[in-house]
Amino acid sequence: MTFGETMAALRAPGALRLGGTLGLSVAGAESNVAIGLARLGHRVRWAGRVGADELGALVLRTLRAEGVDIDHAGTDDTGRPTGLLLTELRLGTLTRVSYYRAGSAGSAVTPADVLPALAPETRVLHLTGITPALSPSAAEAVLAAATAARDAGVTVCLDVNYRSRLWTADRARTALRPLLARTDLLIASEDELPLVLERSGVDEPEAVRSVLAEGVGEVVVKRGARGATTFTAEGATDRAAIQVGAVDLVGAGDAFVAGYLSGLLDGADIPARLHRAVTTAAFTVATRGDWEGLPTRDELGLLDQPDGTTIR
Ligand code: ATP
Repeated sequence: MTFGETMAALRAPGALRLGGTLGLSVAGAESNVAIGLARLGHRVRWAGRVGADELGALVLRTLRAEGVDIDHAGTDDTGRPTGLLLTELRLGTLTRVSYYRAGSAGSAVTPADVLPALAPETRVLHLTGITPALSPSAAEAVLAAATAARDAGVTVCLDVNYRSRLWTADRARTALRPLLARTDLLIASEDELPLVLERSGVDEPEAVRSVLAEGVGEVVVKRGARGATTFTAEGATDRAAIQVGAVDLVGAGDAFVAGYLSGLLDGADIPARLHRAVTTAAFTVATRGDWEGLPTRDELGLLDQPDGTTIR
């Protein structure tokens, strides 16, 4: 189960200021993960709020079409619109994203929206550090869900996903610290790891030691094109990224999380979780869109095929 804000996404093939044609899709860190898991055959629920508007209908329709359970997704009845983001593939794989999400329906999510979505059979709750940045009620929802999940023995996964346009590092630290105490699996980029610590200026080995000492069982550090490392009390497991022709890097982190959680739900060991994570991430890196290129389970082996293969 996961929740967060999913927005309409308008994508431009070049510079936005030149105008021209935009492609319309949807995007949200948590729903990207949910779609990735659904494509791999897992049962997954997304909760959250959309506006009572056409873009909200697009978000819900897309998630439904992807096989994500939206029984607990709500429509805002106070006039708040569905959030919007615009992406421009500006220079090679350098992408610029503009958000129009202040005051959105998704940012008004409350504990009452999400707590009923934690079904008794839930095995994993996936949270990101984006949601607590959206509003005080969204921050309450994240903390309440993490607490309820922890109490119920549900594995809590937190992807730090720091967004500097939404809040400062200090505000993030204040909100993330109490979440860390309820987290079983922490996922962070190399530069995000210090944000969950009491103080900044700590190197990676010390940061990892400190997070594990605080009771987090598994820490995954994402290293972009270099891959990722999982740390537990038993030690570290490194995994290289899969080399692909990079087309669009946005969504790589979410695809990685979907693959990692898929491995965890399958009962795979850490090397196999990492293998699935770098595989799903590579699919997203090699295709356009945040989630559109994510693989189904029977496509997972496609990256082993030589470039130029035609499957008939
Ligand atoms: P984002 O927030 O942009 O989605 P992130 O910063 O959360 O990404 P990254 O560490 O950039 O996450 O990437 C996540 C994973 O995606 C990496 O661990 C790696 O497996 C894969 N990846 C990223 N960049 C590349 C690349 N150029 N080629 C192949 N795999 C990549």
